[in-house]
Amino acid sequence: MHYEIVIIGGGAGGLELAAQLGRRLGRKIGRDKILLVDRSVVHIWKPTLHEVAAGTLDAHQEGLSYVILARRNHFSFTLGEIAALDAEGKTLSLAEVVDDTGEQIVPARRISFTWAVLAIGSGSNFFGTPGAEHAFVLERASDAIRFQRRLLAAFTRAAFSSERKLGIAIVGAGATGVELSAELLEAHQLMLLGLSRDQHFRLDISLIEAGPRILAALPERISAKAQAALEARGVTVQVSAPVSRIAEDHLVAGERTIEADLIVWAAGIKAAESNAGYGLEINRANQFVVNARLETSGAGVFALGDCAACAWGDRLVPARAQAAHQQASYLADLLMARLRGRDFGRDFAYRDFGSLVSLGEKRGLGSLMGGLGGRNFFVDGLIAKGMYMALHLDHHRAILGFWNTLVLALARLLQRRVSGRLKLH
Ligand SMILES: Cc1cc2nc3c(=O)[nH]c(=O)nc-3n(C[C@H](O)[C@H](O)[C@H](O)COP(=O)(O)OP(=O)(O)OC[C@H]3O[C@@H](n4cnc5c(N)ncnc54)[C@H](O)[C@@H]3O)c2cc1C
Repeated sequence: MHYEIVIIGGGAGGLELAAQLGRRLGRKIGRDKILLVDRSVVHIWKPTLHEVAAGTLDAHQEGLSYVILARRNHFSFTLGEIAALDAEGKTLSLAEVVDDTGEQIVPARRISFTWAVLAIGSGSNFFGTPGAEHAFVLERASDAIRFQRRLLAAFTRAAFSSERKLGIAIVGAGATGVELSAELLEAHQLMLLGLSRDQHFRLDISLIEAGPRILAALPERISAKAQAALEARGVTVQVSAPVSRIAEDHLVAGERTIEADLIVWAAGIKAAESNAGYGLEINRANQFVVNARLETSGAGVFALGDCAACAWGDRLVPARAQAAHQQASYLADLLMARLRGRDFGRDFAYRDFGSLVSLGEKRGLGSLMGGLGGRNFFVDGLIAKGMYMALHLDHHRAILGFWNTLVLALARLLQRRVSGRLKLH
């Protein structure tokens, strides 16, 4: 099997790249030239995983089938997990795919390519913390679904217990930890609406951060506002409290032992250890080192998104959906030029548009870069939440087109009115 362009990983960046290339090449050519490989059959935009985990977003409604997306956007899709990559020989080996009983669904395969793009994202960085296996993570949709089931069981158990309380500890107060705290508060409130008064229970959320402030990547003013908003709603925020050990029902943070029914690890990311096995240069976080054209040390093999280490001044381009999105657009231009045998002289230039965090259904918070007159400005409240939601819609627009996104958004709004906002099954 040979494809001109093989994209491995259909997440925030890889899927947008496949869709852009397929649409530009059109129905007749796209499907024969572009192949997208993913280890999952369904795409869920990773920045929504905290909502899936809290049950405020239904993964089964949110998930989009790669096969359908491939048909709509004129690329080919195959289910598979990368097993080996030979940049010189221009071949990719995919491991066999088995179902949950161990029976083979797809055999191991080898695919040759002219250009390949690695877009396989990242996982959690536990920094060697003992007992980290007791914590939930939000790396894949299946992690978020597993947590949602445990959360629902824990909510129900708490409602019937004599103590009427539930403790959740979240390690790491970056955007994921902060947004998950806010979403869990909402899930709790929604749950209480459906319970009789004598079943009401308390939810104690501890948000634990090793650094001196939460949302360290955002301006201090936003950290302070977000911390105040969470504390006002009952979250216990602890900063300068590195977690040294995790057990099934507690963790040790700084000098304190914190008991918790559920523990979530959201304290850092790292690319897969297996990235070291492809003969490409990687950094300490296992990211593929790329040049200004997003090309790895293997000629013709590119990398984007969380799995790529791309210089941005004296830093690296941050691991964010907006970076993966910009890199996908850049590579779409570059690869279209290569396909047409043309030179492509432009380097990738990351533009930071700022950051937005969600603090629940009605509130967001963020700073936007380069607004009127090139100034940075802060946004808060419903406006910030609206902008945050627009990013999600923008990803859908990139892979579904404008009208399908509009229909989907309206359908979900109507569905929510009927079935409620919290997924209770
Ligand atoms: C809860 C949460 C909230 C976030 N919120 C924001 C936010 O508000 N704004 C923001 O900018 N960023 C946010 N992020 C970060 C953002 O999700 C990532 O930076 C972004 O998804 C990276 O895109 P990517 O394409 O590199 O990887 P991903 O989107 O992670 O996609 C990787 C894809 O590769 C596939 N894959 C992985 N390994 C293999 C393999 N070996 N073989 C085949 N396929 C493979 C996966 O199935 C997946 O589809 C958030 C992350 C989380 C977890």
